Amino acid sequence: ARRAVVVGAGMAGAQTAVALREQGFTGELTVLGAEPHQPYDRPPLSKAVLLGKAESAALDVDFAALGVDLRLGREASGVRPADHELDTADGPVPYDVLVVATGAEAIRLPGTEGVPGVHLLRTLDDAERLRPVLAEQRDVVVVGAGWIGAEFATAAREAGCAVTVVEAADRPLAGALPAEAAAPMAAWYADSGAELRTHARVARVEPGAVVLDDGTRVPAGAVVVGIGARPATGWLAGSGIGLGVHGEVLADEFLRTSAPDVYAVGDCASFPSRRYGERLLVHHWDNALQGPRTVAADVVGAAPAPYDPVPYFWSEQFGRFVQYAGHHGAADATVWRGDPAGPAWSVCWLRENRLVAVLAVGRPRDLAQGRKLIESATPMNPATLADPSRPLKKA
Ligand code: FAD
Repeated sequence: ARRAVVVGAGMAGAQTAVALREQGFTGELTVLGAEPHQPYDRPPLSKAVLLGKAESAALDVDFAALGVDLRLGREASGVRPADHELDTADGPVPYDVLVVATGAEAIRLPGTEGVPGVHLLRTLDDAERLRPVLAEQRDVVVVGAGWIGAEFATAAREAGCAVTVVEAADRPLAGALPAEAAAPMAAWYADSGAELRTHARVARVEPGAVVLDDGTRVPAGAVVVGIGARPATGWLAGSGIGLGVHGEVLADEFLRTSAPDVYAVGDCASFPSRRYGERLLVHHWDNALQGPRTVAADVVGAAPAPYDPVPYFWSEQFGRFVQYAGHHGAADATVWRGDPAGPAWSVCWLRENRLVAVLAVGRPRDLAQGRKLIESATPMNPATLADPSRPLKKA
């Protein structure tokens, strides 16, 4: 029997183990995870776990029943594809098939390493360190108005903290959404009682305060940095496995890497999308759930279809359920459905009259229907699409 080794015990790593067994892989199966905790889900970390409404976000996977040798608190430090061996502190681990699922790590604010009271929000340990900040209702400064910053600000307001969010760009989610789609979201911060300061760059963090580059001192009982994440692939340096400009593993349409018998899946890898005509690096939960099925099918020789998903994610912020499916570019046409000042609206992006992406705020039906229309590349009529009282469907 062959031996498969998965590096990374997050969603993508755990799902790879599940999918391999589901698809009939009977060989030895080892999963290495750097964190000491039972594999868990990240989305609840910025939501229920932070507020103490959920103790654990452990994944509902019975590794023992799956015959998985789960080795926690074990980090891979390198891989030698020519020898089909992984390096760890406990010595080499041989593999016939290797799956890289090491995810991403939160980007630190330069100069804040080791400064007390400065937090990231990526791991269960991070969330547990942040719980008392909320419970003690400390004044918090959030650096970055991205998805994580917005969700943390939401939880901190719910806990009764004074919250200031400092954002270098002119609006929230500047890296993720075009100006017109993100503009209405700026008001959500104020509605929740949080202060959003745009065009605000952090010069330094001092004990008890964040100092902006215009000299403003913002008092901070705690600082939470949410400025993005980068693929956790430093350990692959020197392995010869091809990496992209963001440090991500460059996978092909079957999620194979440039090294024989080595796959990469989840937040750590990009893949070529035929649907969108470009390489996608997706940092969302659904991608960590779906990608492993393609990997497993290829490993067992089941000749899967190329991996070409319609990316999907959701965010819960300021009492709103925000969902996005697809992928859009600056050249795509936008069609609004509903009033962006209201509680529920959505935006559709069209390329040659076919739907390529949908952003839905409080309109989960638009998202569900839109996702199908994106998948089927159905031609749409922009005029009927703009009527929010009609279901999102073919003209
Ligand atoms: P990860 O979850 O990062 O898991 C990788 C694992 O590999 C980690 O446990 C890491 O310790 C381990 N590892 C790294 N290097 C090594 C090594 N060398 N050796 C061994 N192990 C290693 N997405 C959504 O769609 N909706 C949401 O609402 C949402 N909320 C989120 C909230 C938070 C706070 C965070 C952090 C993320 C959220 N996401 C959300 C994103 C989603 O959680 C990620 O896309 C998903 O976790 C990716 O899974 P992964 O397994 O690829 O990577």
